[in-house]
Amino acid sequence: MNTKTFTITKKTQLTPDVFEIIMSTDTYTPSIPGQFITFILPNIWGRAYSIAQDTIGGYTFLIKRVADGRGGSKYICDRSEWDTLNAVGPSGHFVLKEEKNSKLFAGTGVGFAPLYAQILATLKSGNTSSIHLLFGVRFTEDLFYLAEIQAIQSKYPNFNYEVFVSREKYEGCKKGYITDALTPDIIENFSEFYVCGAPVVVDSVNEKLLAWGVEKEKIFFEKY
Ligand SMILES: Cc1cc2nc3c(=O)[nH]c(=O)nc-3n(C[C@H](O)[C@H](O)[C@H](O)COP(=O)(O)OP(=O)(O)OC[C@H]3O[C@@H](n4cnc5c(N)ncnc54)[C@H](O)[C@@H]3O)c2cc1C
Repeated sequence: MNTKTFTITKKTQLTPDVFEIIMSTDTYTPSIPGQFITFILPNIWGRAYSIAQDTIGGYTFLIKRVADGRGGSKYICDRSEWDTLNAVGPSGHFVLKEEKNSKLFAGTGVGFAPLYAQILATLKSGNTSSIHLLFGVRFTEDLFYLAEIQAIQSKYPNFNYEVFVSREKYEGCKKGYITDALTPDIIENFSEFYVCGAPVVVDSVNEKLLAWGVEKEKIFFEKY
């Protein structure tokens, strides 16, 4: 196992429980958009975190501090800038396909992390087909990266997005679930589907896509 040492260079709290954590490493290797890093933590073998952004020399992660979990996410989110962590990767098969075709991205919470990397990569590669993001959270206070998402839309006219808040109303967002947007007339516009989030969310998105006739081979997903 090729263990690397990562140094936290910046930590920003985005919501009551989501942190943006930027890390650098001397043994950097480029990732394929959608891949993750596995951190080796004290008393816990490993916890995977998707790379939200790959900048030469390091990566940005979006990590939810799961308060009632076994401690992996708490351990990382409670570290300070310049602390170090051991990790392996990048690895993983939930990766962006190279095709410059239309793509629908659907994610909830920090399941947005790999989608962000994938959306930026496909747009930067010159994909001018329709790229659409469905991003869902429970409460308004759980929203993050809206400025970054808006910045993508300003730069790339073929990118559009819809934000869903399921438990309350918020101006500019839709009240409901990302699955609400999955209607046949929307789905038929896309050639590939990338889905990430909690298992129950991924299952319900996939179920709906398959029910509306999307081929299994065109759906790519990662369950957290
Ligand atoms: C490939 C992969 C990539 C991942 N990428 C990310 C990422 O970019 N950001 C991130 O925050 N997490 C990510 N996760 C989840 C992460 O690996 C841990 O499972 C999570 O941080 C909980 O670990 P824990 O030790 O704190 O709690 P645990 O005791 O391991 O988990 C407690 C419970 O929380 C659930 N859980 C996992 N993720 C969440 C979540 N986001 N919200 C609520 N409950 C959750 C677990 O399924 C479990 O039921 C990823 C998981 C996988 C498999």
